Amino acid sequence: MTSMNSLMWFRQDLRVADNPALVAACDFAIGNNSHLRAVYFVTPSQWAQHDVAPIQIDFMQRHVNLLAQALAALGIQLDVVHVQDFAEVQEVLTTYIEKHQIGAVFAGNEPEINERRRDSALIDSGLPLTLIDQDCVLAPETVKNLAGGMYKVFTPFAKKWKSIANQRAIITKRVPAPMATALPSPDDIVFHCDKVSSDLWPAGEGVAKRILDQFLASQVADYHVDRDIPALEGTSRLSPYLAIGVISSRQCVAAILARYPEALVDDACPAKTWLNELIWREFYRHLLVAFPRLSMGCNFNELGDGIAWRNNADEFNAWCDGQTGYPLVDAAMRQLNQTGWMHNRLRMVVASFLTKHLLIDWRWGERYFRQKLIDGDLAANNGGWQWSAGTGCDAQPYFRVFNPMTQSSKFDPDASFIKRYVTEVSGWSLADIHLPKTVNVNDLFGQRLDEGYPQPIVEHKMARLRAIEVLSALKRG
Ligand SMILES: Cc1cc2nc3c(=O)[nH]c(=O)nc-3n(C[C@H](O)[C@H](O)[C@H](O)COP(=O)(O)OP(=O)(O)OC[C@H]3O[C@@H](n4cnc5c(N)ncnc54)[C@H](O)[C@@H]3O)c2cc1C
Repeated sequence: MTSMNSLMWFRQDLRVADNPALVAACDFAIGNNSHLRAVYFVTPSQWAQHDVAPIQIDFMQRHVNLLAQALAALGIQLDVVHVQDFAEVQEVLTTYIEKHQIGAVFAGNEPEINERRRDSALIDSGLPLTLIDQDCVLAPETVKNLAGGMYKVFTPFAKKWKSIANQRAIITKRVPAPMATALPSPDDIVFHCDKVSSDLWPAGEGVAKRILDQFLASQVADYHVDRDIPALEGTSRLSPYLAIGVISSRQCVAAILARYPEALVDDACPAKTWLNELIWREFYRHLLVAFPRLSMGCNFNELGDGIAWRNNADEFNAWCDGQTGYPLVDAAMRQLNQTGWMHNRLRMVVASFLTKHLLIDWRWGERYFRQKLIDGDLAANNGGWQWSAGTGCDAQPYFRVFNPMTQSSKFDPDASFIKRYVTEVSGWSLADIHLPKTVNVNDLFGQRLDEGYPQPIVEHKMARLRAIEVLSALKRG
């Protein structure tokens, strides 16, 4: 290779701000007085294999277009290349770097097993790939217990995370200076695969930054209370942007610290609860790297392999369609189906309902979420599902079964969230909405009430006892 041009390979880091791999690629090009290009691979078969939701693909397409424009303004050309899967990436990338005389490729490190295998194969084949940790504030394998291993409980992990973060400067990287004169505005980029419109969600790095700033200015202090009420906009709704890297978790934590410099050491800090959620994100990423079997659909707790799931397909379909007869569960599933997003409290409620009331394998729910979520993310989704099912690391105990009726009256007391999505019950009394009537407990499934809304597909008390018995497979000894 005669020249030492460099290449920035964008993946789940669709941003120009706080992108250390992009900065490293720019520095390399400047240091070698050479040219910098950028590439993004569209991988429809791989995404189908990973159940990436069509709404998330649409959101990625919109952001790749914005990224191409932002890079053009910096004099950097983004090439968008269609291949089928990761296997094809290797062949195409090798030809690409020869053609453009590239001597160094920079990319952000990814925690999932297939992505890690892809990168190892590329490096083993001699591709000059430098991976940079930029997906977390503290990269996986940074936060270790005294024995040098991964924490299996969140609270000590979070404590250690804060103490390490407190010793480091959490500084975000600036948008690089232009590398050359601005390029003409790029043509529209179209991904050739199934997509569902994500237009409900505004796109752009600037948008994500504004959401962050507004949330910190006016909502973060009430987050510890408001975050449990689905009818309120009490959470940041940054997850779609974090999932594809339009904004980084470091930008979020740096913004917290700019406003609350004491956040890492003072438990009374108003941003404490929100910071903890960002640390949960890092906990699950650490787990994915420490326990690669989590990327392969395995129970974290191997005793989970002994659970006799019922896996009734009709009941699963009723859950997916928001037709369980429990208005809160159904409203939540319809929110997911209609918007591509679901409130965290409701994710816990519906996951508990599926795995405990219906005794359906958490992997079915995890997959359905992935196929629908605009913020689909293997680490958080797997973590959330295994937490709910009781099979996970630091999970909800198997005998704790959310009561969908209590959850309903506690977190949606005036049923305003429920009525938004389950219009069939809008004329019902609050008592009937929170405590749906069971007409015939012996023949529950498929029976519809006058309003066209089903009666509960399972009776709560029976389901709770059945779940405790079946899930006691998770009991040690
Ligand atoms: C069964 C189940 C499945 C889930 N699947 C996903 C998923 O695929 N993608 C996803 O991003 N989150 C997932 N979560 C976590 C959580 O529900 C969402 O991150 C949150 O609802 C996103 O809304 P927000 O951006 O307003 O969050 P906020 O409450 O404002 O939190 C800020 C950010 O912290 C992170 N975060 C918050 N809660 C968690 C958590 N419990 N675990 C890990 N990270 C968290 C997210 O990146 C979030 O955007 C899941 C939770 C459960 C119980």
